[in-house]
Amino acid sequence: MLTDLVQIARIGRQKRDENFRFRAYLKNHRHSDRRLRRFGEEIQAQIDCTKCANCCRVTETEISERDIEKLSKFLGVTRDEFLRDYTMRAPLDNELILKRDANGCVFLKDNLCSVYEGRPNNCANFPHLVRGEGSIASRMWQFVDRTNYCPIVYNWMEKVKDDIGFR
Ligand code: SF4
Ligand code: SF4
Repeated sequence: MLTDLVQIARIGRQKRDENFRFRAYLKNHRHSDRRLRRFGEEIQAQIDCTKCANCCRVTETEISERDIEKLSKFLGVTRDEFLRDYTMRAPLDNELILKRDANGCVFLKDNLCSVYEGRPNNCANFPHLVRGEGSIASRMWQFVDRTNYCPIVYNWMEKVKDDIGFR
């Protein structure tokens, strides 16, 4: 199991073309979605996200109206205060996201989520292998990007390629 983030970034980038080919391969070959999700559960159980937190540093976290309500309540602030102090617009698509600085999400403190019980749905379900909506094959484009920074997705992708016999 590879968990070194520097190596994952390097090898993930090297394998980008291979992983995009695998995405196309998976779409055109029979496979069990349940089996692929089970591999996701198995790998997720072996990786300690509290020692990683790379997604909190690397990705933008889109938030829903429900997340805003939940987090405002959790922090004991009004909706307007929450929006002012803890959110921003994503530079590329203008989506509402959690505020970020050079270290990542504003709520990441000492490599841990300081609002864990109130965290957005997107964070609770990340990397969306086990509980994501739609088939794994239909969401492979997301996973190819995540192999560069998420140890769960990187190791899962390698396991699935081995299992399906793709090389
Ligand atoms: S809210 Fe917590 S889990 Fe979500 S990105 Fe921020 S620090 Fe990470
Ligand atoms: S979901 Fe992936 S990137 Fe995020 S903390 Fe867990 S292993 Fe790291």
